[in-house]
Amino acid sequence: MHILLVEDEPELAEALKSALQRDHHVVDLADTFGLAREAALHGAHELILLDRTLPDGDGLALIPLLRARNCLVPVIVLSALGGLPDRVEGLDEGADDYLGKPFALEELFARIRAVGRRPSGIQEESIRAGDLLFDPMTGEATVRGERLELPRREIRVLTVLTRRLGRTVLRESIEMAVYGFDDGIHSNTLDSHVSRLRRKLADADAGVEIHAIRGVGYLMRERT
Ligand code: CA
Repeated sequence: MHILLVEDEPELAEALKSALQRDHHVVDLADTFGLAREAALHGAHELILLDRTLPDGDGLALIPLLRARNCLVPVIVLSALGGLPDRVEGLDEGADDYLGKPFALEELFARIRAVGRRPSGIQEESIRAGDLLFDPMTGEATVRGERLELPRREIRVLTVLTRRLGRTVLRESIEMAVYGFDDGIHSNTLDSHVSRLRRKLADADAGVEIHAIRGVGYLMRERT
């Protein structure tokens, strides 16, 4: 998933970011309310992990601001303000879940999965394309039961392309989903991720092809 992590405590932020990346998520980090607002309104995140006590305000205020703009991205609040009234306030403001600090990573991951299982949330069915079966939540890709070994970025590319199977996806949209804001994007890195993914799909005889649309982006379609 593409996650926006709003956290101003540098050590916690880095630790969480690494843990989420190991779980094959792409993470953008925002350490102030202002940056979080900009990132949330302009990014394409699938989940926001939201701290409350930020140097320039209460993170909770971000939720009504997003909902007013029809942005329904799920939000899990992670806060030292973990008392009952705080949690009630958070859920009433529209948070999907609220976890008091300190918390165990296992519990955070379980809650991320739980938010994902809700019908209105981020859960998606596995996607079938040709002989490829892909689960965007777990990143698992199989071809006729055989698992493809894909690193994180290739999983992200595959997520974006399978979701829009048969349609051209703009290069910028793919880059936004594949790289965090603080990763340098080099235009030929995306091409090399796509080439490796394409080769793996071809080697596995997955029955799907990735076409480059010159100057525009990429298109995945089932082989006919
Ligand atoms: Ca804080």
